[in-house]
Amino acid sequence: MTRKHNFSAGPAALPLEVLEQAQSEMLDWQGRGLSVMEMSHRDKAFVEVAETAEQDLRDLLSIPANYKVLFLQGGATSQFGMVPMNLLRGRDSADYINTGVWSRKAIREASRYANIAQAGSTEAQGYTRAPTQAELQLNPAAAYVHYTTNETIGGVEFDYVPETGDVPLVADMSSDILARPIDVSRYGLIYAGAQKNIGPAGLTVVIVREDLLGNTLAGTPTMFDYKVHADADSMNNTPPTFAWYMTGLVFKWLKAQGGVEAMAVRNQRKAEKLYAAIDASDFFANPIDPVNRSLMNVPFTLADSALDGRFLQEAEANGLLNLKGHRSVGGMRASIYNAVPEESVDALITFMHEFERTAG
Ligand code: PMP
Repeated sequence: MTRKHNFSAGPAALPLEVLEQAQSEMLDWQGRGLSVMEMSHRDKAFVEVAETAEQDLRDLLSIPANYKVLFLQGGATSQFGMVPMNLLRGRDSADYINTGVWSRKAIREASRYANIAQAGSTEAQGYTRAPTQAELQLNPAAAYVHYTTNETIGGVEFDYVPETGDVPLVADMSSDILARPIDVSRYGLIYAGAQKNIGPAGLTVVIVREDLLGNTLAGTPTMFDYKVHADADSMNNTPPTFAWYMTGLVFKWLKAQGGVEAMAVRNQRKAEKLYAAIDASDFFANPIDPVNRSLMNVPFTLADSALDGRFLQEAEANGLLNLKGHRSVGGMRASIYNAVPEESVDALITFMHEFERTAG
């Protein structure tokens, strides 16, 4: 078996230990003679898997008791609509911070339900940084303030948590949840598609303050009402049981690694050396303001884009997969989530030096 270095932006690398455990339990889960995939979500044994995963996430992020943790489907994209449907609570406007592709998509969807104001935007700077707190123009009557903590495509990550007073703060943390400790109490709601730092695709995690539930927009579908899911322990209908189980294994793995505190140290080290390699060379470039450079997604370009194809081809031949930048921006992107080992980053840096020497 040869496991390659996987820099996919999502669905992304999973910890080898997690895959091995799932493999060993695939046919006969805990001596029950069937796969966890094949049992009812109402089975006591599965309910325990589900509850343990929730508790482990609560432990990892120190989630306060007055927050519900929901395990949903529909991806982060569904949250672009669910957030306004649930959190407008009779108000007619919300503030959004625009830092790139994903915040724009969230803005477009929310605009179907309310007046959306851009409380801050770095579009004019080509999304090469996040707005500072001083640049935010917040409306105290807004239903909530939404931002994208890490722009997965642009590689721009907030270096601070926006201060929004009494207005609930909503964060799309799809690509940097669990990369470091966070103070959940600063947020009204956090959501994240699983397929980067949490587990396999098919699951979406929502962490929401209880008092924000139960006041949905008229016509909200039952399955889009957070309170329905909260009251049913995310089992109003059949949940994605296998993804939930795998996610539970990832949470156990994270705990065994030393939790998000240890991940933060490792992620910092991984990102620093990759950016250092890019900055040290005239052949590679990353345009993002250093304070907002993403720990998780590192986009970079080659001085001569005509060499892009060759770079990708030779990278693949060297066991380095999925380095192609998003189709909307081109260039390269190395996603180095929690489960991407430091050795993969080292291998990429070695390859980049070698490529520059031979092709540059
Ligand atoms: N927000 C961010 C920051 C993302 O990176 C992505 C996926 N790449 C999404 C939202 C959309 O997620 P999904 O595909 O789970 O709907």
